[in-house]
Amino acid sequence: MSHVLAAVAWPYANGPRHIGHVSGFGVPSDVFSRYMRMAGHDVLMVSGTDEHGTPIQVQADADGVTPRELADRYNRVIVEDLHGLGLSYDLFTRTTTRNHYAVVQELFGALHRNGYIVARTTLGAKSPSTGRTLPDRYIEGTCPICGYESARGDQCDNCGNQLDPEQLINPRSKINGETPEFVETEHFFLDLPAFAEAIGNWLDQRENWRPNVLKFSRNLLDDLQPRAITRDLEWGVPIPLDGWRDRNDKRIYVWFDAVIGYLSASIEWARRSGDPEAWRKWWSADGAGKDSLAYYFMGKDNIVFHSVIWPALLLGYSGEGDKGGEPGELGRLNLPTEVVSSEYLTMEGKKFSSSRRVVIYVRDFLERYDADALRYFIAAAGPESNDTDFTWAEFVRRNNDELVAGWGNLVNRSISMAAKNFGAIPEAGELTAEDEALLAVAKAGFGTVGELIAKHRQKAAIGEAMKVVAEANKYLSEQAPWKLKSEEDKPRQATILHVALQVVSDANTILTPFLPHSAQKVFELLGGEGVHAPMPRIDEVDDLDGGPSYPVLRGDYTVGARWESVPLVAGTPMSAPKPVFKKLEPSVIEEELERLGS
Ligand SMILES: [Zn+2]
Repeated sequence: MSHVLAAVAWPYANGPRHIGHVSGFGVPSDVFSRYMRMAGHDVLMVSGTDEHGTPIQVQADADGVTPRELADRYNRVIVEDLHGLGLSYDLFTRTTTRNHYAVVQELFGALHRNGYIVARTTLGAKSPSTGRTLPDRYIEGTCPICGYESARGDQCDNCGNQLDPEQLINPRSKINGETPEFVETEHFFLDLPAFAEAIGNWLDQRENWRPNVLKFSRNLLDDLQPRAITRDLEWGVPIPLDGWRDRNDKRIYVWFDAVIGYLSASIEWARRSGDPEAWRKWWSADGAGKDSLAYYFMGKDNIVFHSVIWPALLLGYSGEGDKGGEPGELGRLNLPTEVVSSEYLTMEGKKFSSSRRVVIYVRDFLERYDADALRYFIAAAGPESNDTDFTWAEFVRRNNDELVAGWGNLVNRSISMAAKNFGAIPEAGELTAEDEALLAVAKAGFGTVGELIAKHRQKAAIGEAMKVVAEANKYLSEQAPWKLKSEEDKPRQATILHVALQVVSDANTILTPFLPHSAQKVFELLGGEGVHAPMPRIDEVDDLDGGPSYPVLRGDYTVGARWESVPLVAGTPMSAPKPVFKKLEPSVIEEELERLGS
């Protein structure tokens, strides 16, 4: 038994999430966490909405609301979407809590004391009319290298060169068209080169990482530069230093505060659990959390934050970069065990794009289809290790041919036949070699499937689980219990159905991390009572330190099935099943394609 941290990337609260967002890391981190809990580990799965930064400020201005109001709106939408998918967070919170501010400031303070945060004077672009800083991506102008007229302040999309905004010819604000002013401004930088050696040593000891993630992370170390961690902005966490604390125009940069969310959410969870120190079992590098494991789930565009920047913050906080130093008051902290990065999902061959309507939001999806249908697609055909295309035709095909005709059919015909002929789990007589062989296949599935999930190979894992289903369907077709109608055949029919139902029960347990909603239903159809697959709930909570209340996602996951075969008890009453999965009409494909932008 280990303490296992499942740290899931924080969705940015500037709009609803589409299925591409939840395919790469949302659902896979839940499958992993559910399996690890069932296998007896003590899992802490945390995340929340990422709510600071210029894009939220800009959008709030455009909508005529405060950034907090905008963040409140989308925090709630995202919490409801993740709830609808059944993602079993121990705590899904947000970055605007006072607890988060305090933890961010604690890390900033210790890193500064240890010499890893240094002040520098830089040139910043300002809007003359609002006095606000214009971030690079909101500045547009002519590229000084190729003459392209719509180059961005950070990069020219025409020639691909990296730019600084003051290099642009005729720079203008993308927000209101005015010409920005460039003024000297002081900012704090994280001294990343001071961690290159320590991070290199840590990466050298990593095992089992996806090779592309490890290679990419190592390459990042070749060119580490100090990185700005403050901005000229009012919306964000204040800088906790004398002379800066009360300034309204300088804030900690959003990426610095968001990665600290994994730690602050764990601390918030502990404070709400009644044992404020409980987070240490997952985080302390000495004592309670020394042997814990920490898995970070994200899309590939976020690898740098998890394999370089977050480790740098943790090392610097613990006093372990080139400059040494003393650990902060939380003590030395654990680095990630593994950075589990996914690839991209596209939609009908195109990049997801809200503006071009190449999109389906989680909410709209869940209004029309079951959560488990999407969870199945993501596990079987998601962007685990390759960029992957979502097409409606493939979604319908996998739902109908695999989920409904494979698993749903096995559940439906074995349970209907047993309910109709016996009204209960029938008693098994003497077992034949075929019976024994099928039971053995199902039992072996626990080992095979569990090992693959633990290694983040979910596509292979669900493939193995579906092989058990296929074997059971084949067994039923060969044994044909529906033909055994006479009185003297009845005991053999009972045995076959008992074996089939036992395998349905085992396959259902193996499929539970992937398909928790339907697993609960199948469990109940087999006469089970109580919780089989625990679900998250939305609770409205008070901020622990006096801020406004907000919704969180959490649940009691100590209940439910374990990762083992549970023998069915003959005589347990059963009733005729309703179908667990819905077959989709082929017309769905055309309807959905019409909804997409052309
Ligand atoms: Zn250019």
